[in-house]
Amino acid sequence: MLRQPLLMLSRSNQVKKLVSSMPVSAGIVRSYVPGETTEAVVAATASEIADGLRVSLDFLGEDTTDVERAEATVAAYVEVLKELSSRGLTRGLVAGAEVSVKLSAIGQALPDNGEKVALENARAICRAARNAGTTVTLDMEDHTTTDSTLSILRDLRKDFPETGAVLQAYLHRTEDDCRALAYEGSRVRLCKGAYNEPEAVAWQDRLDVDRSYVRCLKVLLAGQGYPMIATHDPRLVEIASSLASRYGRQPGSYEFQMLYGIRPDEQRRLVRAGETVRVYIPYGTEWYGYLMRRLAERPQNLSFFLRSLISKK
Ligand SMILES: Cc1cc2nc3c(=O)[nH]c(=O)nc-3n(C[C@H](O)[C@H](O)[C@H](O)COP(=O)(O)OP(=O)(O)OC[C@H]3O[C@@H](n4cnc5c(N)ncnc54)[C@H](O)[C@@H]3O)c2cc1C
Repeated sequence: MLRQPLLMLSRSNQVKKLVSSMPVSAGIVRSYVPGETTEAVVAATASEIADGLRVSLDFLGEDTTDVERAEATVAAYVEVLKELSSRGLTRGLVAGAEVSVKLSAIGQALPDNGEKVALENARAICRAARNAGTTVTLDMEDHTTTDSTLSILRDLRKDFPETGAVLQAYLHRTEDDCRALAYEGSRVRLCKGAYNEPEAVAWQDRLDVDRSYVRCLKVLLAGQGYPMIATHDPRLVEIASSLASRYGRQPGSYEFQMLYGIRPDEQRRLVRAGETVRVYIPYGTEWYGYLMRRLAERPQNLSFFLRSLISKK
């Protein structure tokens, strides 16, 4: 019941200003976002990799309507990629640390030529990732951006075929999108979807979303691409493992992905079982929208969060 209001608040600039300026206790934010600086996130990455996990880093910030902010985001990615590379934390296509990028953070939401600016900025990040020996995955945002994001993906893949895509099982269109993207070399992250979407385009019932997730998984696992199974749902993890062996997938020909701070013991259990597991680590000061989406998935954390707003840092 709280999911929709929380997701609506996640897009409110007024509430964002209010919440971000309050002395939020480090606790709840830090449980999902390990740091604000390049230095802090590189240290968190090194620690996850030492535990046998892979990493995808996300420099927080979305819905940017300011060219300079978009450029500053590109610069942050270039800096972190250089640092990861110099610390030996990027190794090959499915190993080490890569980055995840929200196109709305690098210009897609600009009023006139947003798609063009986002494409050029994404190219700059892909170049930096390639120089560092690693890859970029384009996060997927709300459904009004899906066509634009997939179109930018197609353009990017002409020069950077290793660029990953994200598809959201809650959208009616996604099974078809999985078919279109299940080709050799195509890295596709499948998640349930984190935005507040209307009935016309998305399943509203959790069971329908889960059923769609399984149908999409089958398409991706049966295809020629590299599926990235992003979920914390114990049932879906189990189904994915048995489907992977049914489709003859060897460990290393697909991977599991989970968010930093969510089910860390399960992440390590899967690694011990021989699976490839990548942890998505967000960092930076723009944690508001990300945190609200995590609270919407787990409203039990809301009272903890509200208490933290009135306690000292
Ligand atoms: C690596 C990764 C990348 C993602 N990228 C995108 C993206 O690009 N676009 C997008 O729309 N969405 C993205 N998501 C978010 C995704 O769409 C879901 O909103 C999110 O993963 C929750 O769904 P779930 O599959 O874990 O299942 P759920 O049914 O939400 O959760 C299953 C179980 O996981 C645990 N859990 C889930 N959320 C939390 C939480 N916040 N705190 C504590 N425990 C929790 C609980 O035990 C819960 O019962 C991504 C998720 C992951 C893991």
